[in-house]
Amino acid sequence: MNKKIPTGRLAPSPTGFLHLGNAWSFLWAWAAVRTKFGQVILRIEDIDQTRSRPEYVTALIEDLQWLGLDWDLGPTLLDPQPNYFQSSRHQLYEQALARLAKADLTYPCFCTRKELKMLASAPHLDDEGLFYPGTCRRLNPNERQARLKAGQKAAIRIKCPLNWDPISFEDRFLGRKCFTPTPQGYDLPLRRSDGVIAYQLACVIDDAAMGVTQVLRGRDLINSTPRQILLAQLLGLKPISDYAHIPLLLDAMGERLAKRHQSLTIRSLRANHVLPEQIIGLLAFLAGINDSQDRLKIKEILPRFDQVHLSGPDIRITPDLLANFGIVTPSLIPTGKPVGLRRNP
Ligand code: GLU
Repeated sequence: MNKKIPTGRLAPSPTGFLHLGNAWSFLWAWAAVRTKFGQVILRIEDIDQTRSRPEYVTALIEDLQWLGLDWDLGPTLLDPQPNYFQSSRHQLYEQALARLAKADLTYPCFCTRKELKMLASAPHLDDEGLFYPGTCRRLNPNERQARLKAGQKAAIRIKCPLNWDPISFEDRFLGRKCFTPTPQGYDLPLRRSDGVIAYQLACVIDDAAMGVTQVLRGRDLINSTPRQILLAQLLGLKPISDYAHIPLLLDAMGERLAKRHQSLTIRSLRANHVLPEQIIGLLAFLAGINDSQDRLKIKEILPRFDQVHLSGPDIRITPDLLANFGIVTPSLIPTGKPVGLRRNP
């Protein structure tokens, strides 16, 4: 693969229907590549098979295409392209784990979920809930061996090197970000004790193997970025140089949009006769490139993408805001009474 072609990816997890918040990040990730005439990859992040479902893969492909997004590599409804599903790339992840283990850069972690949960309520937790006090990092080698021999289940954690150089990257919207890796924050699990490969490892391996040169994603993942850069460094992989982390969409109460916000799934908006142009118009308005609150075709946002500057706070989606674009979803109406569909103003 020619690494010089700007390459970005849409990386949905098929654990539910796509919602407006997913459409928001995928739209800008797509536009950031298309304005550079680069290639877009659709990668299905179904590494956790207990939560992923094939019907959500079909739905997300349909919904992305309905919105007008396209991609050059990855599955379509007619061509499943298994190589772009993380569930079929297990061997690559295991090989990377073996390389790290050989370099003494991993250790087994026997801490139970319950123990880790207790840590999660510790006051010195970092933003991402990743504080780990190094209990199993400090185990003496004999005890470690004895536990493994006794068949005790273990996750595999990365052993963050001590005194590693600070990790910095340039964020398209937020400027230079700098982080200091410490074992407490960076000894991430790479494989869970049930054998499931962690998102961080799969993401780093796939981004490198697929020649990804740019990543635009929600700001909830900004703490993952230095950790993924560290992993890439330890694996000797080419780091990504172009990052962007954008504000999240919140509901009217200030809660992050998630799969449980049924009424804001693309599915349900479609069922409510909302058109893609209304959604694109709304998303462009939220990004500050649609002053007149028009409906927009996806192609119309490309010439304006240069003016997108997403450095502000997270954005609340209120019924009024949606109504300005003619989008009325029943459960967003506070009275709970059934509401007919409204025409666009
Ligand atoms: N699959 C991840 C998610 O749905 C996206 C990860 C990424 O963009 O790096 O949150």
